[in-house]
Amino acid sequence: MPKAFHRFFDNPAGGFFWRNIAGTNRLSGHAFGIAIDINVNQSDYWRNELHGAAGEPANWRAYRPRNRIPFEIVDIFERHGFIWGGKWYHYDTMHFEYRPELL
Ligand SMILES: [Zn+2]
Repeated sequence: MPKAFHRFFDNPAGGFFWRNIAGTNRLSGHAFGIAIDINVNQSDYWRNELHGAAGEPANWRAYRPRNRIPFEIVDIFERHGFIWGGKWYHYDTMHFEYRPELL
């Protein structure tokens, strides 16, 4: 792995964890052990950007997906059957989930 990518894998935020998707009553991919979060300090999450009272963005006009994860990393995960949370409308760029049936 190129040295420039190492910082994205330092202090990974975790794999298996029994919990719901934040703000929902649906189980997260982490509850099934099929998801991994890479370095939270290099990641962007939609809920952290613009907070409204109901957890929705306060200003939809200003809502823009953000990302600092290099696409080379995304590409490697996708080649191995992982979907990437950075492509979701409710983006979560640290999140990779093993869902080969979706690719
Ligand atoms: Zn995650």
